[in-house]
Formats: sequence, C-alpha cells, structure tokens
Amino acid sequence: MKQLAAAGLLLALNGAQGATQTVDCGRLLDVKSGTWRERVSIVIENGAIQSVGPMAQAADHIDLSGKSCLPGLIDMHVHLTSETQPAVDAYRDRLTADPADMAYRSVKYAERTLLAGFTTVRDLGAEQALNVSLKRAIAAGSIPGPRMFTAGKAIATTGGHADPTNNLSHFLGEAIGTPGPVEGVIDSPEQGRQAVRARYKEGADLIKITATGGVLSQAANGQNSQYTEDELRAIVSTAKDYGFRVAAHAHGAEGIKRALRAGVDSIEHGTLMDDESLALFRKTGGWYVPTISAGRYVADKAKDPNYYSALVRPKAAAIGPQLQATFARAHKAGVKIAFGTDAGVFPHGENAKEFGYMVEAGMTPLEAIRAATVHAATLLDQAQRLGRVEPGFAADIVAVDGDPLRDVKLLEQVKFVMKDGVVYKKL
Ligand SMILES: [Zn+2]
Repeated sequence: MKQLAAAGLLLALNGAQGATQTVDCGRLLDVKSGTWRERVSIVIENGAIQSVGPMAQAADHIDLSGKSCLPGLIDMHVHLTSETQPAVDAYRDRLTADPADMAYRSVKYAERTLLAGFTTVRDLGAEQALNVSLKRAIAAGSIPGPRMFTAGKAIATTGGHADPTNNLSHFLGEAIGTPGPVEGVIDSPEQGRQAVRARYKEGADLIKITATGGVLSQAANGQNSQYTEDELRAIVSTAKDYGFRVAAHAHGAEGIKRALRAGVDSIEHGTLMDDESLALFRKTGGWYVPTISAGRYVADKAKDPNYYSALVRPKAAAIGPQLQATFARAHKAGVKIAFGTDAGVFPHGENAKEFGYMVEAGMTPLEAIRAATVHAATLLDQAQRLGRVEPGFAADIVAVDGDPLRDVKLLEQVKFVMKDGVVYKKL
C-alpha cells in the first residue's frame, strides 16, 4: 500500500518541481568533512539545491527537524529488470516470459529501490536493453524509481557469463540463433568494437563486460578468464571514443588483472584478487565494487538443494562466502571502493544491508557512506552533480532517525526520500 501511495504522490508532486521548496533538517551530514551540520534549511529550486544555511523554520517547509539528513544513496551495481527466483521458475521464464513481462515486473523493483533511499543506481546489464527503457520511463516521470545509468546489454564472449544462450537445448539454441555483437556476444577485437558501438546505439551510458565466468550463469566455471587482452583493449579504447566508462565483472585473479591492465574503470566482485591485483588497482586507479550482499545471499541459497541449478549451486557455495573477506583485504590495501550490491541477485530494496557488511569487515560507517555518495558519484563521472547536499547539486536527500555514523544499520530504515526535488517518501 505504501508503494501505491508513493506512486500517487509522485504524480501529485511532479507538477511542483519548478517551485521553490525548503527542507529543514535536524542535522545534515557533510560527507566531505565527515561532520554533522546542526539545524539547517536546504532551499531547492527546479530540482537542484540553491543554498544550505542555518535553519529558518516556516509552516510551508518540509519538516525533518527531528531527523538526520544525508545525500541520496548511490548503488553502483544493480539489475533492476530481474530478481532472484528458484531455478525452476527461472527456467520457466526463459521459455514463457516476454520482455514486456520482465518490464512490468521491474516497475516495482525500481520503486522499492528508490523508497529504500537509493536515488541513483548503475544498472549493469539486462536482456533486450530493458534497463534503457526503464531509465527512460523513470526519467520521464512515468514511474517512480532511482536515476539510472545503464550498461544496456552486458558484453560477453561465446559461452561467457552474459551469453544469453548458455546451456539451452539444441532445439532452443537453433530457434534463437547464435548471438553476436549486437546481442552482446563477441569473439574478437573487431566484434568487441562493434558491441560497444551497438550499446551506444541502444542508448547505454556505460559498458559492462563479463571478464571472467560468474556464479549465476548456466556454465561450469565461475572464475575463468573469458577475454584475450587484445579483445579487452579494443573494447576499452572504443568505449573511450564514446565517452563510456567500463565496468568489468571478474572473480578470478587473471581476469581481474587483464581487465585492469586494459584500463577498465571498475572491477565488480573481484572475489579472488591476489596481491598483484591489489597493486594493479593502486597503479591504475581502478575502482573496486564489492557486492558483499550478493555473495552472502548466494552462499546462503546454495544450502538449499532446490534453489539453484546443479551447475550454479557449487559455484555459489565456493565464491559467495569469500567476498566479504576480499573486501576487507582490498580496503586494508587502500583500494578505492565504491558501494555496490548486485541487487537483483537478492531482493531489490535490501541494498542498504551492504553498509552493515562493509562495517563488519573493517570500514567505518563514514567511509561506507562515502562509498555510496561521493565515491560512487566520482566513479559515475558525476562528482559535481551527485553525492553531496550542496548548492548546484541535484536535490537528492534522504533522512533517517538517530546517528548512522554510530549505527550504520539505521540506513536500512530510510524515512524520507527526495530525488531531483520530488518527494517520494514522506514522514
Ligand atoms: Zn551483476
């Protein structure tokens, strides 16, 4: 019911976006300095922050005087057009679900994510570029959801982690045909360049590649290197021509290192990184997006003999439990870390649990919040527009009870959400 109410609210308030409004916060986290500013009023015009000053309460202000305000949270790794389900249902979907079915389902995933306080996400891969259509619907105000930066279809090699035809029967494989660069499957540098250009054409904002095997694909190996170095270099250099950043899914150390050497901007998961990988992160300035939440979720589900397929279950059991320790090592080694969960591998809207996992593994709450605000904004190339509550920035504001710098789990109960000056969740 709350979700329906929020959708109605969206329609009601969209018209008011141009008007000036003021939010009074009991305190506001300055993520740069790491300190609270007590009792502030935030003036918003046309969806952007005009000024932040001492609180001057008035009847027409949004009253968050009893709350702690923060910048809207940013998740750098989600899949908003799908959600985890038992293998039997996933296989049924492959036979019976149309893209439109997936699109309608994704409406509630997007809304749940926004109402959980995540005002911006990076969507790292969907079939049929559904994530691009979802981005358009949200940007147009047709449905409530986070601001999206999308990879369109993730790029893989034949049989690789994002090959949509893995492990299908010959009958189905023949019916579908062999996917090529346009469908996001490549086997040469030339095809890599074509696949990047196809993402540009489909309306993507960045490139996602699957540099190694993965856990949830219907394939035997969860960590093998799946690209040659010349394929990776062709993709990264073409991506740069189009202003795209490149995110690389990678579990195995060799695939992590090849991707970093080729100049990718972020490594997703990074499960089996070794000391040489850690040194390469520091040398190249590459970001690490840990997705501990996904690791913990798949490790847990692997205990259920009926949840994943026989191919997936052992990979989930082997790789899932290692992610949190990898995160701890990377953090200790000084690797740049941006917040990312792989939501969709677990239910959407539970993204903020990642904060607790990060703090459990050695980050301070402030560092974890920075990973989901200023650092994520930097990786998005949006450091001057997102991730801070300051003049000139998008009016993305969330509020919680208490002090999340003391108890980071308070971020799992966001009480107020504003995106671009529009209130989606109110007290
Ligand atoms: Zn993912």
